[in-house]
Amino acid sequence: MSEFDRIVGHEKVIQYFQNAIAHNKLAHSYIIAGEKGSGKKMLTRLLVKTLQCEKEGIEPCGECRSCIQADAGSHPDIKWIEHEKPATIGASDVREQLVGDICIKPYSGKYKIYIIDEAEKLTPQAQNALLKTIEEPPEYGIILFLATNSSFFLPTITSRCLEINLHPISDGLVKQYLMEQAKVPSYMADVCVAFAQGNIGKALLLAKTESFEQIRNHVIRIMKNLDNTEFATIMSFIKALDESEFDINDYLDLLLMWYRDVLIYKASKDRNKVIFREEVEALAYKAETSTYEGINKIIMMIEQSKARLKANVNEEVVMELMFLTMKEN
Ligand SMILES: [Zn+2]
Repeated sequence: MSEFDRIVGHEKVIQYFQNAIAHNKLAHSYIIAGEKGSGKKMLTRLLVKTLQCEKEGIEPCGECRSCIQADAGSHPDIKWIEHEKPATIGASDVREQLVGDICIKPYSGKYKIYIIDEAEKLTPQAQNALLKTIEEPPEYGIILFLATNSSFFLPTITSRCLEINLHPISDGLVKQYLMEQAKVPSYMADVCVAFAQGNIGKALLLAKTESFEQIRNHVIRIMKNLDNTEFATIMSFIKALDESEFDINDYLDLLLMWYRDVLIYKASKDRNKVIFREEVEALAYKAETSTYEGINKIIMMIEQSKARLKANVNEEVVMELMFLTMKEN
């Protein structure tokens, strides 16, 4: 099994790079764009390992000294640019670590590779400082910008880079990955996958995080006992959420998923179409006892609540209103 097979999705991107390597048609600068968790870093690590592998194939051998150094993060010709200020990558960062360094020939590798992660943090000055290097890189030089999207770059930079976009991965693939590689049970995988929307990093984080399971269980419990639940019970749980790595927005997203399930089940009566498949009885009950109009009202209310919280409207007021709408419909 090739190491590239372990990457979920992105087949076309991998194919492109393998082709470019095989035919010696690599560009000197790339922007690899994709949202957080889309797999940019994993792909990049594997790509640079391949480029530096002593066997010079289209995939890394995994055994040579170069591959071992690449895995250990100690390859002298694979450089991740660091920055002093957490929120920005400044001109002095790139001058010291890249512009002033790239003229020195590779220590042991075929290439000298620079990776700028979170490249959206590059200040315009830093981008300008890079221009000349990108225009006339040495034969062995490769610069990889990893960014959430390419809109942050100056046109002078984008016009000199090849842009590679990582698209969200299909839900089926993410689920398969979670179940096979991360040993996540099916019912849990469904919820994580729907929640992560093609972002494998996020799906994996969710699957591995206890608090996500807690939130999920809480949503299910409340939804099953809505008529007998006091508002205070919900609020005390939400207060506790503030301490964990998930927040009220995640909670609302899960509620949205629940009511969309109710809607889908009401329309289709098909348990295979819903996300909370394990809870199909509760979904069916709600679907039977509510009107389409009522369910839509709730869904709109949850979306409105998200917007209100974003606009800093008092959390308790927002939640109470939403909770009432849920009970009344
Ligand atoms: Zn190797």
